[in-house]
Amino acid sequence: MDKIFVMNLGTTSFKFKLYAWETEDPKVLAAGELESIGAQESAWEISYPGGEPKSGKTPIADHGMAFEHCFAILQADGILKDLDDLTAVGYKAVHGGNLSGTCLVDDALIAEMERVTPFAPAHNPIYLNAMKNIRSRFPGLTQVARFETSFHGSIPAPRVTYGVPYQWQQEVGIRRYGFHGSSHQYISQTVAKLQPGARKIINCHLGGSSSICAILDGKSVATSMGATLQSGLFNNNRVGDFEAFCIKPVMDHYGYTLDETLEILSKKSGLLGLSGVSNDLRLVMDAAAEGNAQAQLAVETLADNILGYIGMYAAYLNGLDALVFTGGIGTNSSLLRQMVCENLGYLGLKLDARKNDGRGDGCISTEDSAVKVWRLKTDEESVVAACVREYLHP
Ligand code: ADP
Repeated sequence: MDKIFVMNLGTTSFKFKLYAWETEDPKVLAAGELESIGAQESAWEISYPGGEPKSGKTPIADHGMAFEHCFAILQADGILKDLDDLTAVGYKAVHGGNLSGTCLVDDALIAEMERVTPFAPAHNPIYLNAMKNIRSRFPGLTQVARFETSFHGSIPAPRVTYGVPYQWQQEVGIRRYGFHGSSHQYISQTVAKLQPGARKIINCHLGGSSSICAILDGKSVATSMGATLQSGLFNNNRVGDFEAFCIKPVMDHYGYTLDETLEILSKKSGLLGLSGVSNDLRLVMDAAAEGNAQAQLAVETLADNILGYIGMYAAYLNGLDALVFTGGIGTNSSLLRQMVCENLGYLGLKLDARKNDGRGDGCISTEDSAVKVWRLKTDEESVVAACVREYLHP
């Protein structure tokens, strides 16, 4: 029986799900999360389906140690017998440069991820450290990466191309890659089951980090993030699309270095920078409701940004069958969904106000809406797990 341990890593966080296949449908045997890696104490929680979660605090120096800690608990609880009982670990890795799809973690993969780290400086080093760490602690363990760029390999050439000198694309890799591939793929596969016959789908993955994807017949044909995760929609702390020629005037005005300017664009911009309140949309919306004009502008700008992408992607798709909202913001904010959908009447889209105010997965458009609108929780880890298994058993 295959058992695959899927990791989703943040700078100081470690999330995992352990999948097992007795039949063709995988089961989640365990899920867990560790926070504050590198701090004096890290809080951890592990749960088994149907059981009470276990939790505790312990010093965890790095992501390799986090894996070791979780593995020891799973072993003590009889979920994994030993290391040989684990078929592979799978990573929801971010930027693989010229590598895409599902790949074995080997020296060549590590070298390519290192080469493109300047395109994903906040994400690639975390995965690289974890891969190297786990390799040195558990040399026999098979490690496989599923890149977040993978789902977007089907985007047509003109939509991954920037208007830069052609050599920049060839020699530096300045082109659109797109990210959040596991989430967009999961939603594509889920809509195929929920709404058979839906060929033209737009998925709005709106969370701590956000992107929109146009999907035609199960394949990505456009996505809002580009060569880096900074472009497209503005995110909680990130600028999103921004005019390159504004960088110099900002540097000149404030006396910032280039690195300082880029740091502000990636960490102190987006919802946080615009609202001056928070990077959490809930707090920005609360402030807006209390009359904070800057917060109101931030919420309206976000909704307007999303609306613009939907319009562009409906044009690329030449119509629309399904619009999906997913991610922490997409599934939880009925107000944002309403602000976006109330401007989509031209597509024949009608949101059902009562259903929009509800919770959980489901269709939230009216019976007579020409476009079905869905609120769906994403499940990126299940896509990584399935891809890793397919890679191991082609
Ligand atoms: P990540 O991209 O880090 O996985 P999530 O998809 O879990 O993040 O989204 C987290 C974000 O969702 C929070 O930062 C918060 O802004 C937003 N969020 C959660 N609930 C709500 C809500 N009810 N209204 C508006 N925003 C929400």
